[in-house]
Amino acid sequence: MQNIVAGNWKMNLNKSEALGLVNQLNILLKENPIQCELVICPPFPWIALLAAELENSPIQLGAQNCAAQVSGAFTGEVSASMLASAGVSYVIIGHSERRALFGDTDAVILEKCKRALEANLNVILCCGESLAERDAGEAIHVVYSQLKAVLDHCKEFNADNLVIAYEPVWAIGTGRTASPEQAAEIHDAIRSYLNQHFGEQTGNAIRLQYGGSCNASNAAGLFAKSNINGGLIGGASLKAEDFLSIARAC
Ligand code: PEP
Repeated sequence: MQNIVAGNWKMNLNKSEALGLVNQLNILLKENPIQCELVICPPFPWIALLAAELENSPIQLGAQNCAAQVSGAFTGEVSASMLASAGVSYVIIGHSERRALFGDTDAVILEKCKRALEANLNVILCCGESLAERDAGEAIHVVYSQLKAVLDHCKEFNADNLVIAYEPVWAIGTGRTASPEQAAEIHDAIRSYLNQHFGEQTGNAIRLQYGGSCNASNAAGLFAKSNINGGLIGGASLKAEDFLSIARAC
């Protein structure tokens, strides 16, 4: 299995900053290639621009979201097929910020996953519990129900087009990371769930990312756990050196 590290730039970086970061990543990767799969997820306006910059690069392009609809009168939305035609190969769906701030319910997330698969995009499906849910002993239950809401109704998923990102909400952007043991407990539970759902061959081949204040100093401890196969990186993906040292730890 090839591990996968993805950078979620969120709503950061203007055009020249975005180009500068990609330029720097390309230079550093040429000097010192890496083993894991690398994806960057910039804001929508830079996608076509960066697709050109990444033509001869090992970095793949991802998007942070896609529309639940196919096409039509949906002002402000961007469809999965537009993203695919612009050179995107991955899309993040179900990020906790989208769930909390933009009304992405499990039902909406399911529709977005269907649109992504119809457009031949690979999905990074996010799940994770809030602090209150963790404190109530509900973490695994919450994650299972988020996964079930999608996987029970999306039969086209397989080990090639699905990555699961476990992102405890209390660790995202807070500087507070799950310990390797806390993360591994949930990752092991997700692996069991996937093995039951897909059968062991597919279940064991689906890559599981950890996300939540992962940085150059804590990445190696997290990635040492057997069911942590990469990371979804927010803040630390905005600096080329930091992002690549996380990827090298993978
Ligand atoms: C994220 O938003 O996916 C994320 C993991 O952010 P951060 O690394 O900044 O916590």
